[in-house]
Amino acid sequence: MNQKKKFPKMINYPKVTLKPGKEHSIKRFHPWIFSGAVSRVEEGLEEGDLVALYSSRDEFLAIGHIAIGSIAVRIISFEQEEINLDFWIRKIQSALQLRKAIGLYGTANNNVCRLVHGEGDGLPGLIIDFYAGTAVIQCHSVGMYLHRGEITEALQSVLGENLKSVFDKSEGTIPFKSGIEPKNGYLYGESESFVALENGLKFNVDWLKGQKTGFFIDQRENRSLLEHYSKGRSVLNMFCYTGGFSFYAMRGGANLVHSVDSSARAIEITKENVEANFPGDTRHEAFAEDAFKYLDKSGEKYDLIILDPPAFAKHKNVLQNALKGYKRLNSIGFEKIKKGGIMFTFSCSQAVSKEDFRKAIFASAASAGRTVRILHQLTQPADHPVNIYHPEGEYLKGLVLYVE
Ligand code: SAH
Repeated sequence: MNQKKKFPKMINYPKVTLKPGKEHSIKRFHPWIFSGAVSRVEEGLEEGDLVALYSSRDEFLAIGHIAIGSIAVRIISFEQEEINLDFWIRKIQSALQLRKAIGLYGTANNNVCRLVHGEGDGLPGLIIDFYAGTAVIQCHSVGMYLHRGEITEALQSVLGENLKSVFDKSEGTIPFKSGIEPKNGYLYGESESFVALENGLKFNVDWLKGQKTGFFIDQRENRSLLEHYSKGRSVLNMFCYTGGFSFYAMRGGANLVHSVDSSARAIEITKENVEANFPGDTRHEAFAEDAFKYLDKSGEKYDLIILDPPAFAKHKNVLQNALKGYKRLNSIGFEKIKKGGIMFTFSCSQAVSKEDFRKAIFASAASAGRTVRILHQLTQPADHPVNIYHPEGEYLKGLVLYVE
């Protein structure tokens, strides 16, 4: 008999109480509580502890992780429940279910997907990317980091034979003021970096040294769209990282493809990847150079340009500078692109809204004096779902533009 169902256990996590009227967002399932909304915190709590959130009228609201910083609590459950292995299994099971439902887990042409996307999967602070057998975990909160053992066990239980190893890559993502000093490493098994298959194209993924979890899975569909516009075009893939957009352009029939990134290592991997997909193909060249310098001296030879820079704004308070950065970059893009060219331009900064981004691009187009029409408005793919109660989760913004 399942005792738990019949006699629900009252859980007893330390209490965090909100100021009067501050419970509304939580009642609408928003997963964050800002520090200004908190009136009382039980003594002795440490960053990352599980807490139970109560309204000023002492009504239970949710369970979450406490943190130092402007977001004081990140909610992981809106129910009175125990956060144990069973909880993690259910959460990961539900995340996997979604990836299976959308056909992104274990298909012949794709062996890579995002398995857990933070708030989008009800688990703020946790990212898990799945690379054909290796789950790469990235914790963005101390709370999540403290659960990494249970998360690993849950992954083993849910993925079974399909899981060969779990790699923790939280070294650069845990807030540094927390005092915890995580080291990247395997939590289960061990495997070499391997070749990812994305829509049938091969990519070298290095989760040990690569950026983020090793590969930018979030551009999968946008790369596919680019393929359709590449025939007969001269392509510049700016901020290419491991060359993602370049190979789609090559497969799509581009005349020439130039890949540029300031990281010499990224350019090295890009070249290896080109060789793996299109051995001996002379249409491709790669340059380890700063984007602005490269664009400044490049002539007007490209009629398909991709601008996919790193996040210019990591926080709200640097928003204005970030917008200036997007304006400057895109202005040069508009000045350089050939008449009748197509530009794919992106922002992956969560702090920059869709409207802000569009305004920045509008200002760039105007300053370059070009006639510009929007062909597509792009976002992140379905394995990076947005929790409807957490619109902030829609971080990737892209515009495909026809430039006359
Ligand atoms: N488009 C890539 C992801 C881009 S990530 C993909 O599809 O996988 C951003 C890249 O910008 C990183 O590889 C980083 O090395 C590069 N970068 C950062 N600053 C740069 C600069 N000033 N000039 C050129 N590249 C830069």
